[in-house]
Amino acid sequence: MEELQRLVDLCRPLYTRGQAASYIPALADKDPSLFFVHIIDEHGKSFSSGDVTEKFTLQSISKVISFIYVCEEHGLDEVLKHVDVEPTGDSFNSIIRLENTYLGKPFNPLINAGAITVSSLLVGNTKEQQLVGLYNFISKMTGVETTINEEVYQSEIVTADRNRAIAYYLKSNEVLVGDVEVALDNYFRQCSIEVDARCLAKIGLILSNDGVDPLTNEYFFSKKIAKVAKALMLTCGMYNASGKFATFVGIPAKSGVSGAVLSIANPESMEGLSGKIGIATFGPAIDEIGNSVTSIAFLKKISEQYDLSIF
Ligand code: GLN
Repeated sequence: MEELQRLVDLCRPLYTRGQAASYIPALADKDPSLFFVHIIDEHGKSFSSGDVTEKFTLQSISKVISFIYVCEEHGLDEVLKHVDVEPTGDSFNSIIRLENTYLGKPFNPLINAGAITVSSLLVGNTKEQQLVGLYNFISKMTGVETTINEEVYQSEIVTADRNRAIAYYLKSNEVLVGDVEVALDNYFRQCSIEVDARCLAKIGLILSNDGVDPLTNEYFFSKKIAKVAKALMLTCGMYNASGKFATFVGIPAKSGVSGAVLSIANPESMEGLSGKIGIATFGPAIDEIGNSVTSIAFLKKISEQYDLSIF
């Protein structure tokens, strides 16, 4: 797998084109030159580069996972009564379209408005129960107990004026259900969930294989939900650079401002890896849109080299 390592080495220096997210102090402290990659295929073969056991927070990657979880709990049709599946072309925390939505619904679950709405749909009578369900769902997929980064969580709370504004606006429109503060707290916690690159790639592998772990045959979610999640990742997963990413990389992916990206692909042959794969990349230097610069460069390279684009 020397070629994959060569591509990692080629992309790592590009971190100087971005910066670690500064709006959350706990993210700003990360060394921007870090770059880790873990890829796992449906046969259990993997490629690792860097410290794939170092933890980072999911941030917006949690949006696709909580969407899948809530769909599996309530059924897709019910969830789609609260959130649409249209890209916006706006930044992830934009408020500009809130007044102008189809039937009052946020455009999609991968922008903050949609994700906070999804967080309000987590199942359970108490806040604790709601989160335990989501944490367990993630723990079962990764095989590692889900924890949150307390410092990032506290940072999320104190920098959340805009998210609060979005949530209260949605509540006033009766799109967000239940207690607004509970939905917000669920959202802050899910953004603060910590994983390492191995765990993230495993989640990707399960998604790539339509909700079933190909290594154990364990079922996590339906193929129908997997298809919707993948379509959302392709059209909305890379914020307002999703169109460019679909054009030049062409695989379903979801990024977070921590600098992590979760992607899936299906290569015929990629240095000994083949079939459905989950890809986790982590490089904390992000561009002005919020995407990891090293991750995007690497994903573009492997897409070109191994013909990964779905188009
Ligand atoms: N915690 C972030 C927020 O809502 C999630 C951001 C992200 O990864 N885009 O502001």
